[in-house]
Amino acid sequence: MEMSQHLPQVFVYADESEYKIPWKKEEARRISYVYAVGAVVVEGEDSLADLDAKLKELREEVVNDRSITNHEERFRLEESGWHLTEDQLSTAFPLWRFMGQSVGIKYHYRYVETLEKVDGPKLSRVYAVLHAALAKDLVRRYAEDYVVEFNFEEYTDLNSPFERLIQFCVDQSDGWDIQAPTVNVVKKGQSDLSSIADYMILGISRLIGQNEIACGAVFDCSGQCRGTLFNSAGPVLGHVISKSSEFRNFEYIRASISSISRVRLHTGVLS
Ligand SMILES: [Zn+2]
Repeated sequence: MEMSQHLPQVFVYADESEYKIPWKKEEARRISYVYAVGAVVVEGEDSLADLDAKLKELREEVVNDRSITNHEERFRLEESGWHLTEDQLSTAFPLWRFMGQSVGIKYHYRYVETLEKVDGPKLSRVYAVLHAALAKDLVRRYAEDYVVEFNFEEYTDLNSPFERLIQFCVDQSDGWDIQAPTVNVVKKGQSDLSSIADYMILGISRLIGQNEIACGAVFDCSGQCRGTLFNSAGPVLGHVISKSSEFRNFEYIRASISSISRVRLHTGVLS
């Protein structure tokens, strides 16, 4: 194996989110919540520096957008960056468009669906399982040829276990000669790439939710819509058509998605 200093670096920005599907009361439902984690992956120091510089400039531009001169949005954006659940349309759109134009970003998404809300220690366990499933795949994909840097957005119950979680993934890669990844915990707003992870994750979760709602209105669907929900091309995703905002947001990231999968939870996780 090459000396580690000769290996290029790969940068992973990971985040997690809960999404409650906006069912109307009377509808029968199979799932109500999507819990997901995801990662934005950038290969190489030069690509990272380039993206960071462009995002800094974009954030500056959006902060100074005239329409929010007197809006609290301006200060929040300055302080803690983009966050999809809170952002105004005029703030969100430039970031979505940036994601659609950028080369050199790869997206990975892992999720579970539940009928009931999950919180407290159970939620921490769910996110730990999802992050581990994703990190294991990324270690397998990259750790032989790259020095991997994981950047997790801070999450109260997981900040210290992130390191153990990555060590666990490395231990599972037994037999390969790899350089141990580094693990950082980043504060909200510290990295615009974490904001991109937030947009990507919630964007995909909303697409799943929109499809569930549309599926509920279809008489004869036996779940085959799920097989086409993340198609890489075409005007329909499951039951979701290209007029819907969930579909249009997905278009910005569609070509750069490297992996999406649903994770099976061991029965102990939710008990
Ligand atoms: Zn369906």
